[in-house]
Amino acid sequence: MKRLPLHRRPFWAKRILEIGPGHAPFVGVTHAVDKFPTNNEQRAGDLNLAAGVEFREGDLEAIPFGPYEANEPGTVNQSNSKFDYLYVSHVLEHVKHPEKAISEVNRVTERGYIATPSPLREQLSCPYPFVGEADFHRFFCWRSRDSKVIHVLEKSADRLGEFCGCRYGLMAERLFKFQRIDGLELESLMPTLSKETRVYFATPLNVVIHSSFVDACADGACAYRSVKYVTFWTSPFTYWVSSRLGRLRAILKKPI
Ligand SMILES: [Zn+2]
Repeated sequence: MKRLPLHRRPFWAKRILEIGPGHAPFVGVTHAVDKFPTNNEQRAGDLNLAAGVEFREGDLEAIPFGPYEANEPGTVNQSNSKFDYLYVSHVLEHVKHPEKAISEVNRVTERGYIATPSPLREQLSCPYPFVGEADFHRFFCWRSRDSKVIHVLEKSADRLGEFCGCRYGLMAERLFKFQRIDGLELESLMPTLSKETRVYFATPLNVVIHSSFVDACADGACAYRSVKYVTFWTSPFTYWVSSRLGRLRAILKKPI
């Protein structure tokens, strides 16, 4: 079972929906939706739900819970109220239409938490070269300073290995070369915050679709800002207290 950090946990929420709980749902969930109730291909174990959780098969682009617009065809109106909180952990990067997914999020909840791999992690760890349909993750997802906006960029052969020219992009490119070309296993050395995009939001949430990492950075929405957690946690202080980060620091100091 997963939990948010104490100061982020929605203790006040009564109706809590999770999309894609898989084998590791969040604590306190009252309703759940999963696209693959019996197929474990995209997760590490069987679907695992606490007793009493109301479950429906469905996905983020068509959430099978209300409230719906009146008379919308093909829908079953179950409730006129929104959920108090929504968990969407490592699902958004799988969808075909992120705008549709975010409009569904806005329809069903007031607040929530979305997590995806960070673009830095995708660059370091996803199948490479790009393998198209064989890759379950279709989008890079990140946040900017505005927590009401999620930025996305479709994965493609051209985007894998593309970096912007800002200081974050240059550091991400450096890590990419260490991992992909020199074959150094960096991911296990990096702090979680650098590897995950985490958005705590109140609706309405917006989505911005970009066409390249360079353009996104030029528009003020650099995708590689999470690299700052790598450099921060390998500062001289942590160098002394952690052999894991000390090793990463030694790698970062290596000339290209
Ligand atoms: Zn940038």
